[in-house]
Amino acid sequence: MSRFWSPVVAGLSPYVPGEQPKQGTLLKLNTNENPYGPSPAVLAAIAAETHEGLRLYPDPLSTTLRTAIAERHGVGGEQVFVGNGSDEVLAHTFHALLQHDAPLLTPDITYSFYPVYCGLYGIPHDAVPLDDAMQVRVAEYRRPCGGIILPNPNAPTGIALPLADIETLLRDHPDQVVVIDEAYVDFGAESAIPLVARYENLLVIQTLSKSRALAGLRVGFAIGQRPLIEGLERVKDSFNSYPLDRLAQAGATAAIRDEAWFVQSRDRIVASRAWLTEALGGLGFEVLPSAANFVFARHPARAGADLAAGLRSRGVLVRHFRTKRIEDWLRITVGTDAECARLVETLRGMK
Ligand SMILES: *Cc1c(COP(=O)(O)O)cnc(C)c1O
Repeated sequence: MSRFWSPVVAGLSPYVPGEQPKQGTLLKLNTNENPYGPSPAVLAAIAAETHEGLRLYPDPLSTTLRTAIAERHGVGGEQVFVGNGSDEVLAHTFHALLQHDAPLLTPDITYSFYPVYCGLYGIPHDAVPLDDAMQVRVAEYRRPCGGIILPNPNAPTGIALPLADIETLLRDHPDQVVVIDEAYVDFGAESAIPLVARYENLLVIQTLSKSRALAGLRVGFAIGQRPLIEGLERVKDSFNSYPLDRLAQAGATAAIRDEAWFVQSRDRIVASRAWLTEALGGLGFEVLPSAANFVFARHPARAGADLAAGLRSRGVLVRHFRTKRIEDWLRITVGTDAECARLVETLRGMK
């Protein structure tokens, strides 16, 4: 607390990101980074952009990158908005499209940044419970609201929602924006981007942090019809006209264009996920069916906090949330096969 703070600051409950350890010996399975690294074409593009031209501001519209994203997804460049990580795209979305008197609906178990943005922008918020199988029930969202946001697949459960259910949300709420946060969609869910042409109330958000292995570059994007994108642009140009630097624009463009690299690392992660799910089951864990690059698992006889602490003391980081309903669950990033095996062996040794 400081008397110098603006009044809103004292009331904030900021997001706490997963640990980024200084020492390199820990196995990091806690923040859903991609173990395979970005395409070599990304590194080459960033190197090629690293010259005295950095004295100049970057393209404020990120035109080349937006065009690459538009071509990849079969939309127009003017339907693409890019930001400094999808977290920034999300922040602008809350500010531009979700700040209303009626409450924003989210699942009760979901990305924990959403309530933080609600606090920052003064947005009322209702948490709609997942069912006992940790699934989203779209019928529960049939109530007055100012908007809806959910990840697909959901985080941290990893469970995917069928497109038909997303269409139900869009049809039930023609006057509200429905935001689908597709941070993990490439690992096994169906993207809602093909619905954008038919639903003016749909905004789809993706990131290059997970399936494109570029968490360190900070690039995310949104796709929607012009009125929604224009709302985001108005907020962006009232906040920071140059959110993506020259290196990020060059690297992200190369990443979007290297489909082969993306497909190869994604397929390896999906195969390792199946192995990890099976191996955890063999140790007695309940593992939710994941469409993401992590699994969400609990042991019937062992507390989640103890498991996470025991793993940490043995050099393995996983994510544990001290949140009601999921205190006993661990969110474990799918690493390489060798990393998954090290996690499983470590757990086996903790019996
Ligand atoms: C990782 C993640 C993001 C944020 O991604 P960045 O682009 O790295 O900011 C957004 N939403 C969900 C659900 C995520 O898990």
